[in-house]
Amino acid sequence: MESSGLLRRQTAGGLVTNIQRFSTDDGPGIRTTVFFKGCTLSCRWCHNPETISPKKQLQFQEEACGACGACARICPAGAHSLAGGRHELNRRNCTGCFACVEACLYGALEAQGRDMTPGDLAEQLLRDKPFYDNSGGGVTFSGGEPLLQAGFCADTMRLLKEKGIHTAVDTAGNVGWEQFQKTLPWTDLFLFDIKLAEEQKHREWTGAGNSLILENFARLCDTGKDIWIRTPIITGVNDDDDESLKRAALIKDRKTVKKVELLPYHAYGMGKYAALGMGDRWYDFGKVSGEAMLRIKTLMEGRGVPEVLFP
Ligand code: SF4
Ligand code: SF4
Repeated sequence: MESSGLLRRQTAGGLVTNIQRFSTDDGPGIRTTVFFKGCTLSCRWCHNPETISPKKQLQFQEEACGACGACARICPAGAHSLAGGRHELNRRNCTGCFACVEACLYGALEAQGRDMTPGDLAEQLLRDKPFYDNSGGGVTFSGGEPLLQAGFCADTMRLLKEKGIHTAVDTAGNVGWEQFQKTLPWTDLFLFDIKLAEEQKHREWTGAGNSLILENFARLCDTGKDIWIRTPIITGVNDDDDESLKRAALIKDRKTVKKVELLPYHAYGMGKYAALGMGDRWYDFGKVSGEAMLRIKTLMEGRGVPEVLFP
């Protein structure tokens, strides 16, 4: 494995939650998707709640706990206790030292968020280069919002580009344009989320308006970079005709938009919300029917949006 001085010279690090190999959902070919920590939105349907906070978080999987008490013995803050043979975690006491993660031999405790340098990350990502090369794949930077750590992304991407790796950034677009500018020279493809066209609804469901997002989208279109639009389809939020047509109007004349992917909501995140102590934020929007997906695709294509796809 390449571990040249060039890779090792990179020092400014970032926080990553997960590195998912052999992904076929985040751009062309076989890819590795890196999930970065921190997001400027808090979408009610988010299925990656571990990426919302920009800080490391303690994750506790109750079903894996053997009630051994090792965490309670080591925790300097008294956050863990065992009452009646059952483990309890008082998150308000936790100071984030993560000593309990090391102490738990059952794997019930985990730190969500790992410090990495660009060199370490690139080295890991380059291990799958043969798969990228054979499939027309590459690496996708996702999250959370990867552009919150744009410098870290850019440094890593530059190392990948030196090895000829295709790179994609999966962004919700709600960051300053200067964050885009940092990664532009090293990015082949942007996966750009347009969740809702209506500003007020966007604010209501994601915690922020969409004017900055749409401004960035327009600027990104002008750079000539390839863009795939991604829209999670959520029943009762953005599955109606009016919203779908408004989104189509935003996209239809943009020549650099190569396709639109509609992603039907799935209630995947419940266990993760509970394990992170965020159970009160989880909400099940219900399954989206195939008929609804087809109706939205037909509506958008009828308004001139080319290649609207859904799984
Ligand atoms: S991270 Fe540290 S302070 Fe928090 S519960 Fe674990 S041992 Fe205690
Ligand atoms: S150390 Fe792990 S298995 Fe033991 S009580 Fe704590 S969380 Fe449960």
